Amino acid sequence: MEVFKTIKSLQQTLSGLNPKKSLGLVPTMGALHEGHLSIIKRAKKENDYVLASIFVNPTQFDNKEDLANYPNTLKTDLEALEAMECDFVFTPSVEEIYKQKLSADVFEFNGLDLVMEGKFRSGHFNGVATIVKKLFLITNPDKAYFGEKDFQQLLIIKKMVASEKLPIEIIPCEIYREKDGLAMSSRNTRLTPEQRKAAPEIYQTLLKSKKLFEDHDLPSIKSFVKNEFVQNKELDLEYFEISDKETLTISDSILPDKKYHAFIAVFAGQVRLIDNIALN
Ligand code: AMP
Repeated sequence: MEVFKTIKSLQQTLSGLNPKKSLGLVPTMGALHEGHLSIIKRAKKENDYVLASIFVNPTQFDNKEDLANYPNTLKTDLEALEAMECDFVFTPSVEEIYKQKLSADVFEFNGLDLVMEGKFRSGHFNGVATIVKKLFLITNPDKAYFGEKDFQQLLIIKKMVASEKLPIEIIPCEIYREKDGLAMSSRNTRLTPEQRKAAPEIYQTLLKSKKLFEDHDLPSIKSFVKNEFVQNKELDLEYFEISDKETLTISDSILPDKKYHAFIAVFAGQVRLIDNIALN
């Protein structure tokens, strides 16, 4: 496994690869868990070479404390990637990526960014699209892998790739969960034992909302979810929304032939956790 800190050294190696062989890119912010590693495993199966990037992207954080507290476990991350036989790792500094201009570009996402994470984290998706586009232009992969854990991010990236006409296939990867259902996240390590014990309630509530979706209207499902969290001392609901799976438009009623998805964001103290589920 080769580790690169500079764009130049990475590109030197990538340009020496056989152009007939495929390259899969797995962008991450590090603090790797089994969810990340399951993506690496899939990318290994589907490509000749796999490149993982580890970069905590400042322009996608609307909250300075969240950025400052983001876990950094580079040494064990590299050991885990080595054990997975990842071929290349890119671990650039902020200066290497942003040079003198530490700001996000502005993209048009056709409304995908106006709800949920986009609504509650100002500028988040311009930051995400900025770093992902930079990584794509630097590394020029055949395929790039993104988790459905960040479902809205996945649609945003697909939209950016289509608008920018980048010849890269975006591969969605299913959500990897702890045994008790909690979606794996680098932020889970910051939970207190009490918060960690309470956190599976997030996925349990999504499962209940899926069950209710069979024979209840959307407003009653939403009020059910709100109530569940009113009673929970460890978890504060930020939002629960049901949206059209393609456009992410928030729905108040169910139309035939449409696919719906439920999205949730919850605070456990200062730690913000998100999850989502297909309803039909
Ligand atoms: P992050 O390091 O949190 O930015 O995540 C890097 C990539 O891994 C993103 O595409 C995430 O959606 C994905 N990812 C993070 N957690 C999970 C999970 N529990 N299951 C599947 N994919 C995940």
